[in-house]
Amino acid sequence: MVTDEPREELGAIAASLRAYLEWQEEAGTSGFPRRRAPAGSTASAAGVATARSTRASPATEITATAPTNESASPPTGGTTTYAANAPVSHASHATMSASADASPSTTNAAAIRLPEIAAQVASCTRCSLSTSRTKTVFARGSAAAALCFVGEAPGADEDAQGLPFVGRAGQLLDRMIAAMGLSPERDVYICNVIKCRPPDNRRPEPDEIATCIPYLHEQLAQIRPRVIVGLGNTAVAALLDTKIGITKLRGQWKLYRGQTLLMPTYHPSYLLRPSPQQAEAKRQAWQDLQLVMKELGLTAPKGSD
Ligand code: URA
Repeated sequence: MVTDEPREELGAIAASLRAYLEWQEEAGTSGFPRRRAPAGSTASAAGVATARSTRASPATEITATAPTNESASPPTGGTTTYAANAPVSHASHATMSASADASPSTTNAAAIRLPEIAAQVASCTRCSLSTSRTKTVFARGSAAAALCFVGEAPGADEDAQGLPFVGRAGQLLDRMIAAMGLSPERDVYICNVIKCRPPDNRRPEPDEIATCIPYLHEQLAQIRPRVIVGLGNTAVAALLDTKIGITKLRGQWKLYRGQTLLMPTYHPSYLLRPSPQQAEAKRQAWQDLQLVMKELGLTAPKGSD
């Protein structure tokens, strides 16, 4: 029987390459990502993004965040301590769907509570954002991923579709992920601090963050990513419980809850906003993602260091 699969696969590769080249141009860099097995890792090329680490990476330098935030600081003088992630075997990737009724199928045995959490989110009325939302926005990507991107809150497109990062900012995020040599669908998990759209795309209020963030903590406890990328001020401040701004934090490894590596970087919406800093911000965001690539054993593109 003749199938369209090879053609679809070629199409996906071409789209990914196009996205990669577009982001490279935007970030003012060039080169092609090559997968590299991390030192001491047995990750295969196809599984590199889902391979979790069980030991500290000596190359990774972690800086303390805020004096008020113990969980974000390394417990012992600067040593990497994200070893709490137990090994998880991932037979294959699983696609995470957004809504509770379209429950995610996952091969990440540790993530069995995700559908339950998604269902709780789908019927949540804990704050007033529930009265104005169209759909709750839980996640997209792979529940088996070792790399997780966390943004702020859904916008209009996300509210309509029930999926995170599907508008303009999401398209840029997908290009950035493709530039890392990864598939946004198969290799990463994407979610937000806030699960319902704040009216008029305003910033979420502190009480809304406080009410909603337990869902994110539960979600991340299920996914158990090896690395989290915090996108923008709101996400990074919420994840690290800090008031330090993104401009100061970006590009430095932090610890989420004392155990998971977190890389703060700019939000794609900020990178899309025309400003005198735009080109430099894109270049810096790409630098941050290259640190993530290094940690995950993905070789940084030549000529972009
Ligand atoms: N911005 C976010 O922070 N999250 C989304 O899902 C979309 C835009």
